[in-house]
Amino acid sequence: MSATILDGRAIALKVRAEVAQRAQALRARGIVPGLVVILAGDDPASAVYVRSKGRAAEACGIAARTVRFGADVSFATLQATVAELNADPAVHGILIQLPLPPGVSAEQTTALLEQVDPAKDVDGFHPQSLGHLVAGEPTFVACTPSGCMRLLAEAGVDPQGKRAVVIGRSTIVGKPMALLLLQAHATVTVCHSRTQDLPAVVRDADIVIAAVGRARLVKGDWIKPGAAVIDVGINRDGEGKLCGDVDFESVALVAGVLTPVPRGVGPMTIAYLMHNVCLAAARAAG
Ligand code: NAD
Repeated sequence: MSATILDGRAIALKVRAEVAQRAQALRARGIVPGLVVILAGDDPASAVYVRSKGRAAEACGIAARTVRFGADVSFATLQATVAELNADPAVHGILIQLPLPPGVSAEQTTALLEQVDPAKDVDGFHPQSLGHLVAGEPTFVACTPSGCMRLLAEAGVDPQGKRAVVIGRSTIVGKPMALLLLQAHATVTVCHSRTQDLPAVVRDADIVIAAVGRARLVKGDWIKPGAAVIDVGINRDGEGKLCGDVDFESVALVAGVLTPVPRGVGPMTIAYLMHNVCLAAARAAG
């Protein structure tokens, strides 16, 4: 078997076209959907992501700007910035680009994410947004898991009744991903660094979501023939080449559906951020 390779870039453009329509309708009512990204430090990957988000926003008719700080920014300054953006009615979505510089502790990062007004939480990282998702009444869903669900839908994979395995249990990808699959009536197993015999667990799955951060961890002989495999990972291999958590060559021979890296999940994450900004703007406008 040879897998159907999903073109995440093309599907993301489709999502962005839907968002652009919604943004246009809001603009016709005098509402310009607005996103502000807080970027601190000089992490090169973050700079690339923020530029991509800015370009996507512009293409969708969303007003986006970046508030930049050096690596020496204080926690107090970041708190004051979030407070100011929370109070600004022209700002519908606030995104704190992670990671923050080393001078900002993990606890302070959590405090900043919690300080964002839940009505502007377009990343879906606020505990209130996560709580709503757990309760089955999502407000804002994290963009990467939303993108993965759309990729499955576009591939004609209905999770209902299927066995799904999510590898990775982070709050921003693995856990919300598992909850969305559960909400779509899959039987969900969440694996992590202490899971025993990971290949055997994955072999049972009709749907595999790899969100680990380990280059080419998931091999072809772990995959049930015909399974849908979504690769969230963004890694550099030993030669510095960009790759996912899935060993693309061997898995493509067994899976039914597979996403590549790059041009798989990545563009979908940005498209769903734009989706969430329009949702926030529409809600703010009543
Ligand atoms: P994380 O480091 O917060 O979590 C990784 C998870 O993987 C942990 O739960 C850990 O228990 C698990 N894990 C680690 N080693 C494992 C192993 N050997 N076997 C099984 N599980 C293992 O990472 P994250 O933020 O969830 O991101 C995961 C990956 O997805 C990264 O490569 C990240 O760059 C990528 N990512 C991509 C996008 C995108 O838009 N494409 C968005 C977010 C994250």
